[in-house]
Amino acid sequence: MQPTDAVVIGGGPVGSYAALNLAKLGAKVTVFEEHPQVGVPSHCAGHLSIRSLKAMGLYPLPEGTVENTYSKANFYSPTGTKFSIHLSRPVTAAVNRERFDQHLAGQAEAAGAVFHLGSRVQSLILADGRVRGIKVKQGKGNEETVYADVVLDAEGISSRLVRQAGLSAFKPKGLVYAVEAEVDSVENVESDAVEVYLGRAFAPGFYGWLIPRLDGTAKVGLATNTGNPREFLQILMSKHPVASKQLAKAKITKTSYHAITLGGPIDRAYADGFLAVGDCASQVKPTTGGGVIFGLTCARIAAEVASEALKKGDVSSDVLQVYQKRCSDLLSFDFSVMLRLRRFLDSLSDEKLDDVLRFCNKLGVGEALSDVDEIDFQGKLMLKVLGKPSMLAAMAYLLMQYLSANP
Ligand SMILES: Cc1cc2nc3c(=O)[nH]c(=O)nc-3n(C[C@H](O)[C@H](O)[C@H](O)COP(=O)(O)OP(=O)(O)OC[C@H]3O[C@@H](n4cnc5c(N)ncnc54)[C@H](O)[C@@H]3O)c2cc1C
Repeated sequence: MQPTDAVVIGGGPVGSYAALNLAKLGAKVTVFEEHPQVGVPSHCAGHLSIRSLKAMGLYPLPEGTVENTYSKANFYSPTGTKFSIHLSRPVTAAVNRERFDQHLAGQAEAAGAVFHLGSRVQSLILADGRVRGIKVKQGKGNEETVYADVVLDAEGISSRLVRQAGLSAFKPKGLVYAVEAEVDSVENVESDAVEVYLGRAFAPGFYGWLIPRLDGTAKVGLATNTGNPREFLQILMSKHPVASKQLAKAKITKTSYHAITLGGPIDRAYADGFLAVGDCASQVKPTTGGGVIFGLTCARIAAEVASEALKKGDVSSDVLQVYQKRCSDLLSFDFSVMLRLRRFLDSLSDEKLDDVLRFCNKLGVGEALSDVDEIDFQGKLMLKVLGKPSMLAAMAYLLMQYLSANP
């Protein structure tokens, strides 16, 4: 195969968005995706912030991609105590991930990126201490070699090639195992509200969710750091005081299983001739497991840094380290706040969680958050809302709970 300026490994949202930005900046880009179709199979709920999508020039999306939008979130303790946030307008959207991924790939192709589907990258070519390209197997064909000045790895959570590049992959301690299900016949839900089921009894180490569509179907799922997520989903659907009623008549029409990495970004996401982006660099929110927006944000930075390096004719790690610095400048504060929040949530017993939700209701935290329009940059969000007296009191209370749980 012809040499190319840049190879992108993986045609997920992050790989395609990196390819789109690289192609727009004038680089010759080749994307390799192991599946025969982009976006299939999908493992993701596709719940994304509208504001962040707009900031990336991705909203509005083509018709049929957005399934529903939401201005409310209801949080439940395992005993059914409810805490709600009602926002003044829709802040999040559920996207169909197949269509979303295909839209991004289509945009990248239109900008000049070349996609090879059914093409699994087997290994990196390493020579003289740097990444020089990849070895790829297309369908049942022979392994081929593709030389490139720079390789952007967006292979998702498997992180096999990240390790081959000599980098440390995500922290295994931060891993949770998720199940995502399509269900029909959901009842007793508000069509503009996302349901979140907290607590160890139903989703230890994470939470469960229900994301309704307007036609009575929904995406339901959960993740856990222990046990079998499929069994926890059955328990959630049959025993949770609220979810069991909402899902009493629901039938599961499809399920998928996938891991999520909540441990924060990997320490180093660059090497000579190589950048890691998206899930394989663990650019995922430790609180919610959302990885699309931060992955796309970092993909754009990776494309800009790689393009500069290509123009300079120097793709050494000395030049590519700017990628890490720029991602860190933008996201490290939010990551550090979210990692603490995750630790706090994990430390709460189900009884304490019940207390926390009651206390948030008493203090009017839901009302104090009603003008929020940002859900991704949660550290900066905290700073913004801290000026409100009820939020300050809530923070003081939560801090006390945190310190008592983490002496
Ligand atoms: C159950 C669940 C629900 C989620 N819900 C949300 C949500 O609501 N909102 C949100 O923001 N995030 C969510 N996430 C996280 C989100 O799915 C990921 O963060 C996101 O998909 C990361 O994109 P990516 O492109 O880095 O990786 P992926 O989407 O995993 O894409 C990687 C691509 O690389 C391909 N690939 C891998 N290895 C090779 C290879 N060797 N050669 C060629 N191709 C290869 C794969 O086939 C795949 O297409 C969820 C995750 C799970 C598990």
